[in-house]
Amino acid sequence: MRICIIGAGLAGTLLAWRLRRGAPGTDVCLITAATPPGEATAASGGLVRGFEPDPAACRLAAESLAELRADPALAALAEYRETGSLYLTDDPPPTALLDLVEDRLPGSAEQLTAAGAAERYGITGPPDAHYLAERHAGYLSPDALRHGLLRDLLDHGGRTVAGPALAVGPGSVRLPGGTLSCDLTVLAAGRRTGPLLRQSGLDHREPTRLRGKLVQYTVHRAGGRRPPCFVDGTTGLYGRPHGRGDVLLGVPTDCWDEHAEPLRPLPDLRRETELLALLRLPGLRLGRVRRTVVAADCYSPSGLLELRATTDPAVHTFTGGSGGAAKCALAASRRAARDLRAPGYRDDLDDLLELS
Ligand SMILES: Cc1cc2nc3c(=O)[nH]c(=O)nc-3n(C[C@H](O)[C@H](O)[C@H](O)COP(=O)(O)OP(=O)(O)OC[C@H]3O[C@@H](n4cnc5c(N)ncnc54)[C@H](O)[C@@H]3O)c2cc1C
Repeated sequence: MRICIIGAGLAGTLLAWRLRRGAPGTDVCLITAATPPGEATAASGGLVRGFEPDPAACRLAAESLAELRADPALAALAEYRETGSLYLTDDPPPTALLDLVEDRLPGSAEQLTAAGAAERYGITGPPDAHYLAERHAGYLSPDALRHGLLRDLLDHGGRTVAGPALAVGPGSVRLPGGTLSCDLTVLAAGRRTGPLLRQSGLDHREPTRLRGKLVQYTVHRAGGRRPPCFVDGTTGLYGRPHGRGDVLLGVPTDCWDEHAEPLRPLPDLRRETELLALLRLPGLRLGRVRRTVVAADCYSPSGLLELRATTDPAVHTFTGGSGGAAKCALAASRRAARDLRAPGYRDDLDDLLELS
């Protein structure tokens, strides 16, 4: 069986690696393209933790982090740094999710008071907010992980073919130099996935709208008390230490699709980030801006990086992590590889292939 995966970002590379490692007989071909400006994997902040307010995302995040921490080679490949993490929320973290994190990452999560969070991390928030600290959390480099896995994929018989893919058809992928035939195709082209699907005359089987959204953060020189990895769900501010003496800070944008291209920094967003940092991180002294990073990611209604069926039974998509796929990608790709190989799923797929 030949599987073509389109897109060598974190999602496509991980899926190709899983498929090749899990079923060495499978011919896995990863179709690459020149890294576009603002590619999510190259720009990603790489914050990883176990807790997420959404139960499905929490499961993927906690499982991914557990796998990373249990595999020193993988952690080294990903340049994982364990700084700890703090998550501020308006609502109390559900007990079921705390149990889930405890099960996957024993002894990691602890609820703090506002005073406890300020003392331990220098992060001040509303007294009635909820403060979830995780010891076993930090950040990684999605770009380094992608390149490391790509080397491993090639060492283990996987192949890459230079794209870009122009369209996918029944059992084939159209490339600038010709057509590649395959049994299954997975579009993992990040924010280009939706347009590529439409260009091919296809759509998802279940109604799913994939949208591109701009993500922006700033790297500052910083003195004083630098925070660990944190997400302030009460304001949207997030950040982490960056290199020696720098700090990365951002807030979510509301810049979708056509408004997101071409990608340009939003100055108001930078100012908002700096004001929120003054409020939440009183011990931090923000120095000059080293750089502002502007990129875009693929957002889906479920918010999850997951395998989705399309109107062509031999074509799937694997994207839609909504600005948070770095933390979920290990478990999400394991699940996607299993679903592509699972006997029940294959039977279903074979029936559909016969029908088409
Ligand atoms: C600025 C930023 C910060 C982030 N920070 C975090 C974070 O702190 N924590 C976290 O968990 N997540 C974070 N994320 C999210 C996470 O990094 C992304 O969800 C993830 O990297 C997406 O990977 P991808 O492979 O789906 O997409 P991409 O990285 O966009 O990769 C898609 C690939 O497909 C290729 N491609 C496109 N079209 C074609 C074609 N026609 N043919 C062949 N190839 C094609 C592109 O060249 C690209 O290499 C962040 C995202 C951004 C943008």
